[in-house]
Amino acid sequence: AAPPEQDVPGAAAALPYQDPSLPVPQRVEDLLGRMTLDDKLGQMTQVEKDALVPSSDLATYRIGSVLSGGDSTVSPNNAQTWADTYDSLQRTALTTPLGIPMIYGIDAVHGHNAVRGATLFPHNIGLGATRDPALVQRVGRAVAEEVAGTGIDWSFAPCLCVARNDRWGRTYESFGETPELPTAMTSFITGLQGGTLGGDPASVLATAKHYLGDGGTTGGVDQGDTRLSEAELRAVHLPPFKEAIKRGVGSVMLSYSSWNGVRSHAHKYLVTDVLKGELGFTGFVVSDWAAVDQLDGQTGFTGAEIATAVEAGVDMVMVPHDYKRFLSLLRGEVTAGRIPQARIDDANRRILTKKFQLGLFERPLTDRAYTATVGSAAHRTLARQAVRASQVLLKNDGGVLPLPKTGRLFVAGKSADDIGNQSGGWTLGWQGRSGPVTEGTTVLQGIRAAVTDPSRVTYDRYGNGIDGGYTAAVAVVGETPYAEMRGDRPDGMGLDQEDLQTLARLKASGVPVVVVLVSGRPLDIADRLPDWKALLAAWLPGTEGGGVADVLFGDHAPTGKLPMTWMRSASQQPINDGDGKSPLFPYGHGLTYGTNPDPDPDPDPDPTPAKACTATHKPVNSWPGGHQAEVTVKNTGTGPITGWTVDWDLGGATVTSLWNGTHTVANGRITVRGTGSGGTLAAGATTSFGYTANGTAGTPAPRCTPA
Ligand code: BGC
Repeated sequence: AAPPEQDVPGAAAALPYQDPSLPVPQRVEDLLGRMTLDDKLGQMTQVEKDALVPSSDLATYRIGSVLSGGDSTVSPNNAQTWADTYDSLQRTALTTPLGIPMIYGIDAVHGHNAVRGATLFPHNIGLGATRDPALVQRVGRAVAEEVAGTGIDWSFAPCLCVARNDRWGRTYESFGETPELPTAMTSFITGLQGGTLGGDPASVLATAKHYLGDGGTTGGVDQGDTRLSEAELRAVHLPPFKEAIKRGVGSVMLSYSSWNGVRSHAHKYLVTDVLKGELGFTGFVVSDWAAVDQLDGQTGFTGAEIATAVEAGVDMVMVPHDYKRFLSLLRGEVTAGRIPQARIDDANRRILTKKFQLGLFERPLTDRAYTATVGSAAHRTLARQAVRASQVLLKNDGGVLPLPKTGRLFVAGKSADDIGNQSGGWTLGWQGRSGPVTEGTTVLQGIRAAVTDPSRVTYDRYGNGIDGGYTAAVAVVGETPYAEMRGDRPDGMGLDQEDLQTLARLKASGVPVVVVLVSGRPLDIADRLPDWKALLAAWLPGTEGGGVADVLFGDHAPTGKLPMTWMRSASQQPINDGDGKSPLFPYGHGLTYGTNPDPDPDPDPDPTPAKACTATHKPVNSWPGGHQAEVTVKNTGTGPITGWTVDWDLGGATVTSLWNGTHTVANGRITVRGTGSGGTLAAGATTSFGYTANGTAGTPAPRCTPA
């Protein structure tokens, strides 16, 4: 059933654009025909809520969009006040002669993370580890309901970056290092927007960001330069955006980064020719925060910067503060003929189409039915499920895990009892922070709730007071919160002094140590690993971090798989540059409990299985001098194959990226090898992996060898 219309000023369907029974393109054209130049320029302008002073400027300057940046909040910070703030701004927007509703955007990147009490899910890197696009779609839906509960129409998510260097401070915003993982996790978009944009009142406009190559910068420097051939850029960084467009993503945000020295915001070829032309993107392109006014390397707008960005294909500029100056310069560029009127109309068509599709003209105000879903028990249950599924068990010597619920346990580490640490950046503030920043369940609370007798669990943050009488010590250590820019780690990537001292105290007791690593990326821990019996990568689990205990005690066996190759040392970064570096743990690694590494073991395995497999090669994409392929391996034997490799010869091509495998170079030839990554290939089952290469000659024939 269509959602009910709201009784708001200007809702009387007197004019064609106000008539919901007419097709959207017709409404857009009718409205466009009635708009002044100032109305149109205002639609292209997005302003930070706190910069709108007085808030009546929203109507005075005909501003089309408001955002809350990472540090923006309301007081008191709760869903109700956010909804009230939204409705008051929207009512102001509706007072303009044409009554065009504003669209309000926010970074709900792992839940509605600006709102105290909202459900916070694992950051994308953890969702990538789940390998479960259907679960991620449900997460997207839950986020949409909480966002809609505060009136907000649009989330600047998901980040579809393919993070290729763990030094980058936004690595945790990536679903994984291969093109295929972020591509699969575009299911988040379907969750946010719903089946059809505006098809239900909790439909939130999604943003595929940051276009293009944000995760590929040299040295992993945030906002840096991605130096790649076009073939490599397309093979590694473009696939998730293609899929996002297939799923109908409504907006795309450009990247601060450059491609071979040219900023994305000035890249007409990438934005207009490739994104809007070749890929057929019909939504609108939004700039990143103050990215346009920095195009000349200095802050403060110039007309030339604005003309360059709009000409390149930017439809809406995230100003975010100096809107009066921005609007007067934009107007100057248009009246001087440096930005064609047709470009202004195109940008407006794109933006207004999404506003109509979202139903903003019919339902501009908050649907209060969703306000109660913010932080609801159902959403927290879903988040806990996502936490469990994101845990990656990297080491488990002597089966120390699962822990006995009746044991005497010692818990230590700076992140054992810290909601802020376990939630990471973009949590109640741009960079996040340690401490009880919002409501949730810490890892320690999860442990205490799981054991038979909580009084047998001793906690000391620093590991003081441990003695030899404990069953095991659980150390919850890792990174403290950070976000873009500040999170870059150009130097060491190891544990901090506090963690090292805590771990040294635990080690000295002689008690078996289980390390739970709370971090936004793999860390340089190889030299410490021999001290630990078990290592669980918990990523940044969010408010329901108590779910880590579900895996520690074996209520749920771990099923997560590494979304990133785990370095042996920081000097290996970037580890996937094709130099044949040997990782500590390969991409896709992840153990589970019991002797059979398969989470769904064959109940009656054939004692003497006949081992045979076939491999087929399927071209996925090719371009002049380049090739992208997927290899599917089928077990043609009668029993499971617990180890297999596939290799084939590419006759001298340069392999740029290999999903789930390795490649070697010898005698001028390249052998690409895919390895069953720890799993069992059941009889009759198939699995696949892929590679991208430059200049492959013909179609290489793969060979499959069972171990
Ligand atoms: C980030 C974007 C974010 C924007 C708005 C920028 O600094 O790069 O990812 O959406 O801020 O908060």
